Amino acid sequence: MFAKVIVDISHESIDKCFTYRVPTEISLSVGDPVLIPFGRGKKKGYVIGIEELADFPEEKIKDIFSPLEKEFSVEKQLLDLAIWMAEEYGTTLNQCLKTVLPVKKKTKNRTKPGKIQYGNPYPAPKLNAEQEEVLFAMQEYFQEEEAPSALLFGVTGSGKTELYLRLIEDCLAKGKEVIYLIPEISLSHQSRMRVEGRFPGQVAILHSKMSQGERAESMEKCRSGEVKLLLGPRSALFAPFSNLGLIIIDEEQERSYKSETAPRYESRDVARKRGELAKCPVLFGSATPSVNIFREAEEGKVRLFTLKNRAVEGSFLPKLTLIDLRKELEEGNRSIFSKALEEAVLKRLERGEQTILFMNRRGYSPFVSCRKCGKSLNCPHCDVSLTLHKNGMLQCHYCGYSRKLEKNCPNCGSSYISPFGTGTEKLEKICHAVFPKARILRMDGDTTGKKGKYEEILQDFAQEKADILLGTQMIVKGHDFPKVTLVGIMAAEQLFFQSDFQAREYAFQILTQAAGRAGRGKLPGEVLIQSYRPEEEVLELAMEQDYFAFYQSEKKFRQRLEYPPFARMLAIQCSYQEEEFLSLMLEKTIKRIRGKLEKEQAELFGPFPATIYKLKDNFRKIIYIKQESHDIIIRLRNLFVEELRKEDKRSLIQLQFDLL
Ligand code: ADP
Ligand code: ZN
Ligand code: ZN
Repeated sequence: MFAKVIVDISHESIDKCFTYRVPTEISLSVGDPVLIPFGRGKKKGYVIGIEELADFPEEKIKDIFSPLEKEFSVEKQLLDLAIWMAEEYGTTLNQCLKTVLPVKKKTKNRTKPGKIQYGNPYPAPKLNAEQEEVLFAMQEYFQEEEAPSALLFGVTGSGKTELYLRLIEDCLAKGKEVIYLIPEISLSHQSRMRVEGRFPGQVAILHSKMSQGERAESMEKCRSGEVKLLLGPRSALFAPFSNLGLIIIDEEQERSYKSETAPRYESRDVARKRGELAKCPVLFGSATPSVNIFREAEEGKVRLFTLKNRAVEGSFLPKLTLIDLRKELEEGNRSIFSKALEEAVLKRLERGEQTILFMNRRGYSPFVSCRKCGKSLNCPHCDVSLTLHKNGMLQCHYCGYSRKLEKNCPNCGSSYISPFGTGTEKLEKICHAVFPKARILRMDGDTTGKKGKYEEILQDFAQEKADILLGTQMIVKGHDFPKVTLVGIMAAEQLFFQSDFQAREYAFQILTQAAGRAGRGKLPGEVLIQSYRPEEEVLELAMEQDYFAFYQSEKKFRQRLEYPPFARMLAIQCSYQEEEFLSLMLEKTIKRIRGKLEKEQAELFGPFPATIYKLKDNFRKIIYIKQESHDIIIRLRNLFVEELRKEDKRSLIQLQFDLL
């Protein structure tokens, strides 16, 4: 047997591993530390693969000296995490190591301290009675068990963050370290100020707009002990802390916590695994927990802690009203503003209060079609309609394709092509027309492309340099603007465009978050939800602002249809540019594994075309495998890949796994 060994555990050395012979008397597994001859001396290395054949002339291969005592270094912890991820998410260990291990990149000039001055220490408020009680209970619970996981469920503005800060204080006082995950978008501004203000000089940050060098620097600060707290999005889970005391995942339901590239890991699960390896508690927090985690709370797998009231005295949850846009049409109002919303905005302008308007589509018009032949202009590479932008360009929001809007229909040549629907750019234009005196900020994928733009827009709004902030869902996440007393949802039915079983959950979360932006200070808040389909059950549930009612309804629905979390399901997305080849290969593979599926009492559904069947010139089909047992699903996944590759010998078909 031969072992592949890496000597220096870092991202860059993964491809530089060495092959050694494993003496017959030694038994080794992947992840084990070993002592090896290296150069003229000896070195410690880690086994990252065991193979029967060497890829090297055998006579040149040296023997491993001996296995080393199992240890609990952070390197070993991260290596074990990568090994677990490779198995769990069906990717190579190499890919996982590249995700997990820190990059050792030397930066020439260390980044200067940020432009924003974190000089103002952020004083801790005295906790209210409800917070006190919950904090105490959490502290107790975290001491009781070895690696407990807990869910802090609290309405928007109930003071969850304040409790995280107290728990962090506890850890730092004990000399322990903390990983604190917050969604990318909230990172840019307030949360960051708040955390850095509370723990000046002790915090490192990660975010996606950082260069590799800057990221490496933050990670190095964690490794060297210079800081004890890492605040960041999902990649912060891999902080090289050796004495981890707590992992916090705020806004646990956030979709960005799931990696979009392989390994497609779910931060929730990786956090738990890391917690288990580091023997530290994991705390999830949310005002709208995912159905999955709430189910776990119900089953006692996660301990539930609840905050029912807003923290600021005199601040209450806002009043919600649902507006039927069809009635407005009947009454002759063709504007995208219902009378009620228009009046509500005007009132805010008069009183000097602020408004947030949420519109789920960017660009000017989401569709362009021909009134003569009825064809809409679609992306030539994807099954989606092109969005018209203010600059006259048609854009595909999925692949980036763009071209100038033509004068004549490319299908029939008529000149009757016209845009339909409203995106944020058009909403901005309409706002200027309807509220000529208002100062307006727009925040969406188009206005925040440049580094620092998020911060700038949020900062300007926080400093009341604008009356209205309008934009896509990035404006409803986590921000705390005490002067905002009105939130308008322009077209709630847009939230149901998705066809998957999680669409309702997603819509409920967005609506609750959006509503949570109103009335956070002492001024009472109001939320107006406009929709052409007000009869949607989720809208009614969101109106009630009752998560439990929503959860009960969702639970019934999923139980009845046997959707997760009431069944385990693996979605396998298979994509390739030739439709026929793809279909044929899948058909053959499914035939090959039928017998095994039956034996394991697993069900297979599909292949179904993906919601967007053609994307970037690739056709995408999805197969679902359903089985109660996680381990059997993993085995069947491996079998599927093995059998598929027997047909698709050149590995042309790309696979993506989603464990639901
Ligand atoms: P959440 O994380 O649940 O949204 P936060 O911790 O951000 O809630 O609290 C919401 C607002 O209430 C913030 O402005 C925060 O400073 C304030 N706050 C939190 N706890 C208290 C408290 N005990 N006394 C006064 N203000 C508080
Ligand atoms: Zn036409
Ligand atoms: Zn496209």
